[in-house]
Amino acid sequence: MKMQIDLHTHTTASDGRDTPAEVVRKAAETGLCAIAITDHDTLDGLAEAQTEGQRLGLEVIRGCELSVHSEQGEVHILALWVPHEAAKLEEALGTLREHRAMRNMHIVEGLQKMGVAITYDEVLAVAYDRETITEGDTPSISLGRPHIAAVLLQKGYVSSVSEAFSKYLGSDCPAYVAKKLLDVKEVMALLREAQATICLAHPGLIKCSQEWLEKYIVYLQELGLHGLEVYHSTHDEAMTDRLLALTKKYNLSVSGGSDYHGASKPTIFLGCGKGNLRLGVEILDGLKEQRRQLGYPI
Ligand code: AMP
Ligand code: FE
Ligand code: FE
Ligand code: ZN
Repeated sequence: MKMQIDLHTHTTASDGRDTPAEVVRKAAETGLCAIAITDHDTLDGLAEAQTEGQRLGLEVIRGCELSVHSEQGEVHILALWVPHEAAKLEEALGTLREHRAMRNMHIVEGLQKMGVAITYDEVLAVAYDRETITEGDTPSISLGRPHIAAVLLQKGYVSSVSEAFSKYLGSDCPAYVAKKLLDVKEVMALLREAQATICLAHPGLIKCSQEWLEKYIVYLQELGLHGLEVYHSTHDEAMTDRLLALTKKYNLSVSGGSDYHGASKPTIFLGCGKGNLRLGVEILDGLKEQRRQLGYPI
């Protein structure tokens, strides 16, 4: 069998349900030879994943997924090969996590006003697996709406995570509170300085026209974009083909990943997404070759 990879996965460091070590173990069991851990707004799971990767002989690429503001709303940037020393990036991520914690408190308050009897402590209990955090500490877990969804599910308010989003947590729901997004120029500068490989995550999920997407990619490339996440669980064949054509037109690299979240997104599997992904190791080789040409460490 051809060697397979997955360059977009989430763990309990953000809104995934498997610990970093569990994700690495599952990747090894699935027969993958490399994965990137790309939690939202945190680098916290990376060390644990790398240790497990070394133990099992599976390559773990240090990644992160950041949410930035655009004219068309939230856009996600995937950073790969994030270095161990990235103080400015860590500081920005810490601020984002603090905002996430405040936002989740406000969402819970909104739900309480709607008569939904859940508490913020229950959300923390889900995220921290019943460990307590000291008040005032910067939360190290990147908290998100999926943690609230898990509480709604536990308490029987909904029967699935997707129902939690459609009924209570989606942007058109009364309890919704917008997330703080970073300025794209700031993020690109931080990632350039860190010598990370910068990819536009799941471009097919941006609610925009093809024309806007192409212009935005050109704009990001001027800011240091290296590649597009061409292969993603939510991309159909037509979208994948369009994105592949854009990588050729603009000489961008190709990336791909499932966006695995464990039980938070039960229909998405490591390495194969919804069964629609074939992520060969040549994708990783291409990204590494680009880094070599840039003189970046691998
Ligand atoms: P947040 O970052 O707190 O706004 O939460 C966004 C996260 O929720 C995404 O990264 C997904 O992991 C998850 N998510 C968004 N929409 C849905 C949905 N309809 N069903 C399940 N998970 C979702
Ligand atoms: Fe997520
Ligand atoms: Fe994303
Ligand atoms: Zn993701």
